[in-house]
Amino acid sequence: MSGIINLIVAIPVLFVMLAIPVSIGVYVYRDAKRREMNAVLWTLVAVFAPSLIGFIIYLLVRGSYSDMQCGSCNASIKEYYVVCPKCGAKLRPSCPNCATPVELDWAVCPKCAQPLPEYQNDIVTPVRPKDKTLWKILLVVIIVPIILIVLMIVSFSVVGSGGSIAHAEVAIEQYLQDVDEPRIKEWLEECDSESDKAYVLEYRTEVEGQKQVRYLIYLPQLADYFNYSATQANGVFGTTLDIDLENVDGVTGKDLNLITYRGDSYADLKLTLDGEKVECEITEVDYSVAPSDYIGE
Ligand SMILES: [Zn+2]
Ligand SMILES: [Zn+2]
Repeated sequence: MSGIINLIVAIPVLFVMLAIPVSIGVYVYRDAKRREMNAVLWTLVAVFAPSLIGFIIYLLVRGSYSDMQCGSCNASIKEYYVVCPKCGAKLRPSCPNCATPVELDWAVCPKCAQPLPEYQNDIVTPVRPKDKTLWKILLVVIIVPIILIVLMIVSFSVVGSGGSIAHAEVAIEQYLQDVDEPRIKEWLEECDSESDKAYVLEYRTEVEGQKQVRYLIYLPQLADYFNYSATQANGVFGTTLDIDLENVDGVTGKDLNLITYRGDSYADLKLTLDGEKVECEITEVDYSVAPSDYIGE
């Protein structure tokens, strides 16, 4: 099941990751071509230089290459054009006699020495088009990583779900009789029975292809009678097992709790007692911390 969900998430992620360089490549190629820059070279630089460095360099460099449009028909033109090659609109003042481009304040043509008219009112001023595509691309460059991060968070929370949590509670004396493991007894003797902390033995195994983590918890401040609730939280940093305990009544420090989580990944323990976060002193061990009849092994 999680394999299918992985795929559902992976396809859009892959698509988006391909879409960024492709759209940047198309934009740079067209833009560079219009400016008579080396389109192929700049496209390669923009697409393959890491972290968009090539694209940024291109945006900085291209400024010196003009990109003008005819004010009459929007055809792409060059700064030195006298007339628009598409619609014939007059783009610059020129000598009426020899057609040499002249400046507005010149009185005489520098080429044929003819006096120039005081002003030429038939000139269509070329326009520099506003580059909206660039803003769109920058927007994509900013938004896409955000989408990717959101997708990653979603994928983690989807993929990590479906684990099982089991809980068993047993009196310490009974437990020590049932479990023939002197190291657990030693560990218990070293725990401070006055402490606010939780002492935890953590045992990780793989069972039937799934990851299983079992916590043996000694919480000295836990009463005989308590409410127990467990929830599984999936985040970017993995699965967390939230165990909420609430003292009801009775003598404290008499019982042990065994909590087993089985799922796609190991779950980290987070413990609260009466709404307060409990500091856990976790010792990872390589031996089983439960007799097989406590929780179905
Ligand atoms: Zn034109
Ligand atoms: Zn002239």
